[in-house]
Amino acid sequence: MKRVLSRTIAHIAPRASVGGVRVLMYHAIDDPDPSDSMALRVSQQRFLEQMTVLRDEGYGVVPLRAVLDAHEENGRTRVAITFDDGYRSQEWAAALLRDFGFPATFFVVPRFLDGVTSAKTYSETWGHLGWSDAAALMDEGFDVGAHSMTHPDLKTCAGVRLDEEVSGARTLLEQRLGRSVPHFSYPYGRYDERVRMAVERAGYQLACTSRHGLNQSSGPSYTVNRTEVYGTDDRRDFVRKLQGQYDWLGYWHHLRRTS
Ligand SMILES: [Zn+2]
Repeated sequence: MKRVLSRTIAHIAPRASVGGVRVLMYHAIDDPDPSDSMALRVSQQRFLEQMTVLRDEGYGVVPLRAVLDAHEENGRTRVAITFDDGYRSQEWAAALLRDFGFPATFFVVPRFLDGVTSAKTYSETWGHLGWSDAAALMDEGFDVGAHSMTHPDLKTCAGVRLDEEVSGARTLLEQRLGRSVPHFSYPYGRYDERVRMAVERAGYQLACTSRHGLNQSSGPSYTVNRTEVYGTDDRRDFVRKLQGQYDWLGYWHHLRRTS
């Protein structure tokens, strides 16, 4: 959908009710790239500005597992921060988050940690964290989650391959990193009932989608809503996203069956 139209609707959309946990979704924290048609790169300057907004506006920044206990009648919306794909530029973001004292979850892909990428997908050329970097993030107190074994569209994966991608990623990450990996993120945000069941079967506690929205219930969830932050978002867009004025996009995603 055209960004101008999105902004116009966000301007008139009501703010979401208070409470719940809003999970922010980031990819690379880096300078703009002309090939980045999906605006996956948020500049360091913008990221700093956004973390400053969270601090100055008094948002409680909580670990992702807070969505397991998101139901709250009258509280202030809490915010969790997540990163997908394990780009090397996320190390800079982690250092900044440490300064702010904010927790975060980094969803990594073993294939990328191994340094195996494809030049066909523009974002795979941006450089990724390695295994020792992922271990270092955990040592610093951040969570590392699984984002599948090789980053396919899981809806296209048949039985054994699906389990390898979902359950295999968890087993491998836990073996090599030596810690529990209870959180999952669907590549491209794509899943269906069969994929969701595979994630539950693999023993994950929760799984993140790419569908916009707030999380306001408690208990295990394999359809956690996230709020994606784009490189093109200015401060006003970011504040509106925090206030839920882009949550209508979740219905749009649902209609287009991209979630
Ligand atoms: Zn991804």
